[in-house]
Amino acid sequence: MMKNFYFMTQHSFAGDFVMPYLWCSLKTYYEKNGQQKENWNWKDPFLYEKTDNEIFELLEKDPPNVFGFSVYVWNEDRLDRIAKHVKEKYPTCLIVYGGPQQNVKHDSSYFMKKDWVDISLFTDAYGEVVLTKILDLYPAENYWQVPSIYFTDITRKRLKSLASVDKRAFKWPSKIFQSQEHIILDRINQAKSLGEDLQVFYETSRGCPYSCIYCEWGGGVGGKVVKRPYEDTVEDINWLINTAGINGLDIVDANFGMFKEDIDLAKHIAMLKRKTGLPNNVDIDSAKNHPDNLLKIKDILWEHDLATVYTVSLQTLNEEARRNIKRIDIPLEKHMECIQYLKSKYTNVPVYIERIIGLPGETVESIYKQLDIIYNIGLEIGTSKPVPWVLLPEAEAFDPIVRNKFKLNTVNKLFDFNPKLKDNRDLSYPADKISVVSNSWVNPEIETVVESYSYSSDQWLEMRHIFDWTLAGQPIGLNNYFLKYLHTEYDVLPSDIYKILLEKSKIGFGIDAIDDTIAIERKHSREWLVNNNVRDALIDLGPSWPLLLPTQNVLSLALLKNIRKFYNFVAELFSKKYDDTKIIDLSNWIVNSVIDPSYNPDNGRTFTSEYNWLAYFSTGSLEKGNYKFSIDDHKNSYVWWHKFADGTTDRDIAYVCQVMLKSSSDTYSTKIASTLRLVT
Ligand code: SF4
Repeated sequence: MMKNFYFMTQHSFAGDFVMPYLWCSLKTYYEKNGQQKENWNWKDPFLYEKTDNEIFELLEKDPPNVFGFSVYVWNEDRLDRIAKHVKEKYPTCLIVYGGPQQNVKHDSSYFMKKDWVDISLFTDAYGEVVLTKILDLYPAENYWQVPSIYFTDITRKRLKSLASVDKRAFKWPSKIFQSQEHIILDRINQAKSLGEDLQVFYETSRGCPYSCIYCEWGGGVGGKVVKRPYEDTVEDINWLINTAGINGLDIVDANFGMFKEDIDLAKHIAMLKRKTGLPNNVDIDSAKNHPDNLLKIKDILWEHDLATVYTVSLQTLNEEARRNIKRIDIPLEKHMECIQYLKSKYTNVPVYIERIIGLPGETVESIYKQLDIIYNIGLEIGTSKPVPWVLLPEAEAFDPIVRNKFKLNTVNKLFDFNPKLKDNRDLSYPADKISVVSNSWVNPEIETVVESYSYSSDQWLEMRHIFDWTLAGQPIGLNNYFLKYLHTEYDVLPSDIYKILLEKSKIGFGIDAIDDTIAIERKHSREWLVNNNVRDALIDLGPSWPLLLPTQNVLSLALLKNIRKFYNFVAELFSKKYDDTKIIDLSNWIVNSVIDPSYNPDNGRTFTSEYNWLAYFSTGSLEKGNYKFSIDDHKNSYVWWHKFADGTTDRDIAYVCQVMLKSSSDTYSTKIASTLRLVT
């Protein structure tokens, strides 16, 4: 009798349509190596596109015998819910979990807590090999013979198989998409006809030789790197471009560029782009120790308009923290050489710096120092969001021994940096169109580190405030203009300015609207830290708001709404300190150049200054005279925030949605007008 196998995973950060890569790989491998392929029905590869109820209806018609789930931090919540339901409804269905988000290695009661799971694959198991063995043995009394799994018995004890997968002997399945074309092509063609953004997450290798303690790859998948044969990769990519018409190619290798053949692959993709116009972009995680290969790959990607952002995976610049987390990376100077080279050849090379808040060894002072180093080397301090450090079950840091060593303290909730739409929101606002809105799939119980041997939880909050302020300083021109002038003329560093602002923010600037917001932000952050009932780090600005905002955006909005008062404050402070009245003129010029909520696109804005700051920031020479500037951003565009009366909540909401929270690739992410020009 035929048996039904279902498989599901779900991606985050994905486009409209994602290729069922893992399903194709598992099935193609089984068809080549499985002993019982005639007996298994591989059901719907697109389960992740369906609602829970749609999935349950499918199961009603064709009940599952085995259901596999690939669990990640961003899909754990949903997959647990579905798997639990499946077990309740079909108790004999074998539930198999794989993926990095299974707390089974460190928790012997895992099968009691997740009493719907029967088998859990080691994170470093090769799913294709293990699943083949499971399907061939099914139904079995027990699964001792299956390599690289935890399983359980009637007592729900955790049992571990003795065998492991020989990774070096692994034969990658070839033509994984082509082999399943008869099943997947209709949906792909439908997606194309609907104009959906087609994306694939594809591996050209597995494994990572490094051991960063916060990473589930380092803790679980680390060790050997096994590369897919180059010819197979080319064949798959050819199919993805020529037949499927993929726009977004995400190469999910931990270290793309580690092999010389990665350069050949980049050239091959570039050739496909020249011939077909696709893909639109290629996303890679860069190799950590091969800057020369990387430069060649980046050059090819930029030349063919295939890259959108240069990511510097910095995580920390503190040597002690770096040693603690066993992080190896390309030196920042090498990154800079690469960035400068790309910038000299191509007009648009946005840089994104990955940083983690709260690594062991980090201190408030080291975060300030990090800002200075990033700034001195010529990178932006206020465009990249730092991510909180969360403990992933397969990461080395999850181990109680490591927790003790670094004296880690955690809270079980998500520290969210992206705005989130409210349920039951007013749909007449444009909030749904904001690309940075969080879909909040992440397990809400996720463990966030808030204390270690090198910082207290109060200092963790302080670090968080530093990030809030440097991010909020970006849209108001504080980083790119005010600080730039002070740095050029008086060697002022980011830490000099932000230490003053952070200190002032504790006692108040004497500007009620700003001080009140800071008080709300600080109070909420503390509540989030100490009160288990406060689950969300995002701030609700009131019932009329359709979205919850992260603290840095709440601060940004307060500064943008009160930009003149804020700059009066800093201008007075620094003009006195350096006995330089030009700072007052500069502040006035910045205030007028920023697209703030009171700006009216119908009218534009003209203003005067004593110095030609536009010329200063492009040539370095500062001329005195009578200068008139004008701006007319957003003229004749779709925006309507200015149709509401100035100072009203409606105006703020529309401004936030239409201007402030536009994605970082948008030219308005720094709110200095893009149309700024000298009139006379
Ligand atoms: S963070 Fe990157 S380099 Fe470090 S272990 Fe994980 S995959 Fe490897």
